[in-house]
Amino acid sequence: MKGLLDQRFEQGGVIVTRLDDLLNWARLSSMFPMTFGIACCAIEFMSTGTTVYDMDRFGMAPRSSPRQADVMIVAGTVTFKMADRIKRLYEQMAEPRYVISMGSCSNCGGPYWQHGYHVVKGVDRIVPVDVYVPGCPPRPEALIGGFLKLQEKIRNESLMAPTAIEKLMENQPVAIT
Ligand code: SF4
Repeated sequence: MKGLLDQRFEQGGVIVTRLDDLLNWARLSSMFPMTFGIACCAIEFMSTGTTVYDMDRFGMAPRSSPRQADVMIVAGTVTFKMADRIKRLYEQMAEPRYVISMGSCSNCGGPYWQHGYHVVKGVDRIVPVDVYVPGCPPRPEALIGGFLKLQEKIRNESLMAPTAIEKLMENQPVAIT
């Protein structure tokens, strides 16, 4: 009787792949967004977690602690008072970490763009953003589109390459898609 290993070889149970591809497949299939909302866009973020939209099917399991999270979804208006807190939360997250900017406020200041003296005109002035989701507010389908964009980005990454924050620290330009 043949051993289990031989049977696996016969049945084509061996996969040859690059280490980057294997790790990226695991990483993009198990992302942990932080449960974090700062204004009305957060209501749509919460809707995305309901059974109707079921964000778990993308491997997205929300975490309550930044130390257990690797994706920050900035859902709402970023005021100057909140800016420090957002940066601190980002720095506490596990690496490699990602940021999805959800909605016009977070993307560029939204309705407060011109006269909102209290609003940061884009969260990318505080933390590096990987994906921008447009809308006021974006619907859950749009946020899911943002998840897919982020998965695509992770699929093409190499863990050997410098991260966005390392590039920022070295003053190198960061490619934002
Ligand atoms: Fe509210 Fe619109 Fe700003 Fe979202 S983009 S936080 S819905 S005002």
